[in-house]
Amino acid sequence: AENLKKRKIAVLGSRSVGKSSLILQFIDEQFVESYYPTIEATFGKSVKYKGAEYDCEVIDTAGQDEFSILNSKHAIGIHGYVLVYSVTSKASFDMIQIVYDKIVAFCGVTDIPCVVVGSKVDLKSSRQVTPDEGEKMAQELNAAWVETSAKTNFNVGKVFELCLAEIEKRAPHTGEA
Ligand code: GDP
Repeated sequence: AENLKKRKIAVLGSRSVGKSSLILQFIDEQFVESYYPTIEATFGKSVKYKGAEYDCEVIDTAGQDEFSILNSKHAIGIHGYVLVYSVTSKASFDMIQIVYDKIVAFCGVTDIPCVVVGSKVDLKSSRQVTPDEGEKMAQELNAAWVETSAKTNFNVGKVFELCLAEIEKRAPHTGEA
């Protein structure tokens, strides 16, 4: 359709924080306990948000660490980012700033539309990152923030709504297909 807005969203973060599980829950509404390691995959879903229909292309990535170089596919033509850490891993939380800095360096812009996501909140007894720490980090990055569980389908749709909101905030008139 002519009024269908295309939005490319890349999902980044440390390995095994639940990026693939989050996407699978969003796209297929299912959770698979042992999901194979991601190489690279793209998924499509149309989403109604604030009365408009968005054709979302969600890009799953293998996962980043301090040594990985950002793939140009994860920077060029991307409208928004979902940066995932697990609330059960302080190391994955620390990786958010590192990945964010890589995006900024690659894109050469300082204000990146992104959502910081604390995943696996169902694992209550293993929590290493508090909601306050997550929220504070997101504020520093001028990003939205939400905690989720792909397992219980808690706040999964919200992640992508927030991402669309962050994109629209910065480019409200981008109506191109
Ligand atoms: P990725 O490498 O970041 O794509 O992570 P995966 O989606 O492959 O998930 C890594 C592991 O964490 C898998 O064993 C998942 O079943 C598990 N996992 C992912 N999301 C959740 C969640 O919300 N809750 C729980 N309990 N486990 C999760």
